[in-house]
Amino acid sequence: MLITGTTRVLGIIGDPVSHSRSPQMQNRALAVAGLDYVYVPFHVQPERLAEAVAGLRAAGVHGFNVTVPYKVAVVPLLDRLSPEAAQIGAVNTVHNDNGRLVGHNTDGFGLVSSLREELGFDPHGADLVVVGAGGAGRAAVHALCAAGAGRVVIVNRTVARAQALAEEFGKLFPGVRLDVCQSFPASLVECDLLLNTTSIGMDGFSLSADPASLRDNAVVYDMIYSPPETPLLSAARCRGLHFSNGLGMLAAQGEYAFSIWTGVTPPQGLMKALLVGDL
Ligand code: NAP
Repeated sequence: MLITGTTRVLGIIGDPVSHSRSPQMQNRALAVAGLDYVYVPFHVQPERLAEAVAGLRAAGVHGFNVTVPYKVAVVPLLDRLSPEAAQIGAVNTVHNDNGRLVGHNTDGFGLVSSLREELGFDPHGADLVVVGAGGAGRAAVHALCAAGAGRVVIVNRTVARAQALAEEFGKLFPGVRLDVCQSFPASLVECDLLLNTTSIGMDGFSLSADPASLRDNAVVYDMIYSPPETPLLSAARCRGLHFSNGLGMLAAQGEYAFSIWTGVTPPQGLMKALLVGDL
C-alpha cells in the first residue's frame, strides 16, 4: 500500500482497540478494490473521547468505526444520524461528509445477514432471547424487530437498561412482543435463537448464558469472535446445537461501512474470506 498526499484516512476508535480485526480486514479490502484509502486504529481514553472526535473531524479523517465502549457515547458528538442510527441510539460507523459527521449503524444489518448466512436463520416470527442491552444489544434488538421477530426477551444485568430498550422499541415495533428479565430464564423451550450481545466470554472462561434447556432445533449466536469459541458456544456444541460466532457479523457490518465511506460495494464474501484466511 502506497500512502501519498491524496490518500484518504479511515479508522476505528475504541478502548481497547488492539483486539479489533477491522484494520486488517478493511485495509486488505481497500487494496483489493484498488482504492486510495488507509484504515488506522485509534486507542481513545474515555475522558478524551470528545477531543478525539473533534480532532478526527478537524484533521479531515474521511470516516471511522466506533467500537466498545463508545457506540452510545459518541452520538451527541455527531452532527446528524441516519434514521436507523437515530432509532437505535448507537453508532458504529461515522462518515465525514464535507466536515459534517454523520452517524450510521451497520451492526444490525451485519447480524441479520450473518444469521441468515451462517445458520440459515430467519428472524421472521421467531422467539428470541437476547442477552445484553448495550450498544450492540440495541442494534441487535432493533434489527431483529425490523426483520419481523415474533417475541424478544431481553436479559440484562442492569435491568433498567433492558426495560428502557423494551419500552422504546415497543413503540417502534408494536407487532413484536418485548419482555425483560434480569436473570437468565430457567426454561428456554420456546426459544428459537439465543443471542449473546455482551462482552461476557471474551476472556474464554465466563458463560454469558446457558443453552442447556434449549430445544434441539434452536440455534445459538455469540457476537464475540475472539476467542472463536466462547464458553457459550462450547456449551452449545456439547448440547448438539447449531451455532456461530460473530465473525460473519463483523464481515457484513464492515462491508456496509465500506460502501458508506467509499460509495463502492465490496465483492460479496470478500471480507469474510479475508477474516478466515481464505485470501
Ligand atoms: P457495551 O455497550 O459496553 O455493552 C456491554 C453489555 O454487556 C451490557 O449489556 C452490559 O450489561 C453487559 N455486560 C458487560 N459485562 C458484564 C458482566 N460482567 N456481567 C453481566 N453483564 C455484563 O458493549 P457493546 O458495544 O454492546 O459490545 C458488546 C460485545 O459485542 C463486545 O464483545 C463486542 O466486541 C461485541 N460486538 C461484536 C460485533 C461483531 O461484529 N461481531 C459487533 C458489535 C459488538 P450492563 O448494561 O448491566 O452494564
